[in-house]
Amino acid sequence: MPVEPPDEVSAHQQRVEHDLRRKAETAQLLLDAARYLGETLEIERVYDRFHELLADAIQHDGVVVSSFDERESVIRCEYAWVEGKHVDPASLPELKLSTAGGMQSEVIRSGKPLLENDVGGRVAGDEGGTFYDVDREGTVRKLPDTGPTHVQAAMMVPVKHEGRVVGVVQLMSDERTYTDEDLELVEGLVGQMGAAVRMARLREERGRAEASEAAAEAVAAEREQAARLFEAVGDGIFYVRRDGIVRFWNRSAELIVGLSSADVIDQPAAEVVPGWAAIEEQVAVTEDDSVPRVARVPVEVADRELWLSFVAVGRPQGVVYAFRDLTSERELEQAKSDFIATVSHELRTPMTAVYGAARTLMRPDVDLSSDERSQLLEMIATQSERLAQITEEVLLASRLDRGEIAVEADRVDVAELASRAVETMQPQISLAVTLDVPPEAWATGDLDRIEQILINLLDNAAKYSPNGREIRVFVSETDERVRVAVADEGVGVAASEQQAIFEKFYRVDPHLTQTPGGTGLGLYICRELARRMVGEITVESQPGEGSTFVLELPRG
Ligand code: ADP
Repeated sequence: MPVEPPDEVSAHQQRVEHDLRRKAETAQLLLDAARYLGETLEIERVYDRFHELLADAIQHDGVVVSSFDERESVIRCEYAWVEGKHVDPASLPELKLSTAGGMQSEVIRSGKPLLENDVGGRVAGDEGGTFYDVDREGTVRKLPDTGPTHVQAAMMVPVKHEGRVVGVVQLMSDERTYTDEDLELVEGLVGQMGAAVRMARLREERGRAEASEAAAEAVAAEREQAARLFEAVGDGIFYVRRDGIVRFWNRSAELIVGLSSADVIDQPAAEVVPGWAAIEEQVAVTEDDSVPRVARVPVEVADRELWLSFVAVGRPQGVVYAFRDLTSERELEQAKSDFIATVSHELRTPMTAVYGAARTLMRPDVDLSSDERSQLLEMIATQSERLAQITEEVLLASRLDRGEIAVEADRVDVAELASRAVETMQPQISLAVTLDVPPEAWATGDLDRIEQILINLLDNAAKYSPNGREIRVFVSETDERVRVAVADEGVGVAASEQQAIFEKFYRVDPHLTQTPGGTGLGLYICRELARRMVGEITVESQPGEGSTFVLELPRG
């Protein structure tokens, strides 16, 4: 027969069962809480969910979650909910950790939770702490100065991380009191909430780190882009740090100055940048937003003088220099002014002669013999021809430049043409011109233009042979070419000038009065015409012994 258990045994059993059930429920609740809280990684949402979970488990009229900053010893509100409404945590005052009283401070100091079912009494009796009362509108009252609190009971639970208190959760009720079981449940939930907040914080930090990494990458990419741009621009760019060390030297700088960046970078500008002293002295560094001033500086590079135009912009750590090579522009300018000087000089001489002769002829008081008259007329004719020739040369050169001269590609007997040119020129040349030509030598080209070249070469040979005895003209053939050589015994051309004399306006010694007049266009015109006939013109010469100019044309 069944034996009835004694009363106290049954009561004990009931307590155990109740306890077990409660523990199971708590465990279930915490498990759900862990999952629910872990689903979000936004801190605000974690607090909201934590509060939802609390609302289901324990009656309360207010919740405040605060963080504790150990370094500054300050307690800050992170989340507040009072009587059904969220309160902006920033509107609540920061609290200094109190060393003696205060409920939050006690929890932080001890690391243990606190249960107070007579908050009013505690506030009245606590000398060391600071107490505030917050209503649902967020109005904060300092206690007890502004009157009694309406809070009856409060639970305060520390939030811990690796054994240290990092915050406090407060739960308040105006009507009821709390039990140890309530406290235990809140502790469990706070533990879960703390973990979820930590996860969210980590995630936030990682996000921030990723964002700053991305920003750093973007800056680096921008720099690289700028560097690539600086590499690609046609202007030379270099950067000199305030301590005088070169830190950047772009491709164009390499090309213009002829120094590789490896030779220059990390070296003192004073030692590696050609003309640095002049650059530093003459180039004004713009330090503000104003437009940089351009300075032209002649810079000696190897054995060449370059004309560089510089601007310099100051940066906090150094100066960026940008420069452009104006050497060829300057040479062109120089050539232009030389040309104007040459042409006006060249024109003035025949014009003065023509003018003088005409005036003399017109003078009624001078009785001129018919011989004298015809001499003057002869001079007018010759000088007019010279004027026409100069004008012709200038016009032809500019038409060649503009590509307006077309040349024929006919079969031309250069042997016959050379003989004819010598015949034409001989009367104007005081020297003997000898001919050494085969019976015929057919080339492809433009008869008039070849003749023009030969006349020019013969004219030069005579002009630059003040003491020469003769001029020789040879015509010969190779498999593919026909060569006409005009050799003189004149002043010759130095090796260093042998390229330049074919340039436009180039004259070896334009300022020496004893050199015969000329525009410096003759050989340029010859070279350009020869090229258009797929030929070329070259010179071999020994200064003082004479020159041989050779025209080569394709065989016809
Ligand atoms: P120009 O004779 O009008 O000065 P060119 O173009 O024909 O111009 O010649 C350019 C320069 O080349 C001359 O100024 C002269 O110094 C040099 N030169 C040309 N032909 C000869 C030559 N046969 N002997 C020596 N120097 C020459």
